[in-house]
Amino acid sequence: VEHTFATIKPDALEEHRDEIMERIQAAGFTISQIKETRLSQEMAEEFYKEHKGKPFFDQLINYMCRGPCLMMILSKENAVQEWRALMGPTDPTEAQTSSPDSLRSLFANSVLQNAVHGSSNLNQAQEKIKFIFGDIELE
Ligand code: ATP
Ligand code: MG
Repeated sequence: VEHTFATIKPDALEEHRDEIMERIQAAGFTISQIKETRLSQEMAEEFYKEHKGKPFFDQLINYMCRGPCLMMILSKENAVQEWRALMGPTDPTEAQTSSPDSLRSLFANSVLQNAVHGSSNLNQAQEKIKFIFGDIELE
């Protein structure tokens, strides 16, 4: 199996935790690790360092720090791509037309407040897993 890194962002965790968890289970993912973490500003800046300098960076950091996030390792065949597909596109307006059953279509409030995070590739997944969960053994 493949492992990816997934996050339920603070607003979505507060408002839609159970519905999102049900959809993750229904899609056939195994939750290999799970923990609730409130990111500090420094941690959030490291987490999204690839976006440093973009016009939305400060808003993004504020958003990610405003409450606990649910951090997960999701495991499944082709997990990286499958989780990106379940999330849907970054912008919920686009998600509502192209993938109406996706998590962002259903639960995102805006392109910023878009409910969930998922690694874009295996390298990024490994990096985020290490950053949040440390050196852990995965099959
Ligand atoms: P994520 O990395 O959170 O899974 P993504 O890969 O779909 O999302 P990225 O381009 O990596 O999209 O953007 C990271 C996050 O920054 C988005 O999930 C969203 O919260 C925020 N974001 C992206 N684009 C914008 C924008 N144009 N305006 C405001 N916020 C944005
Ligand atoms: Mg991204």
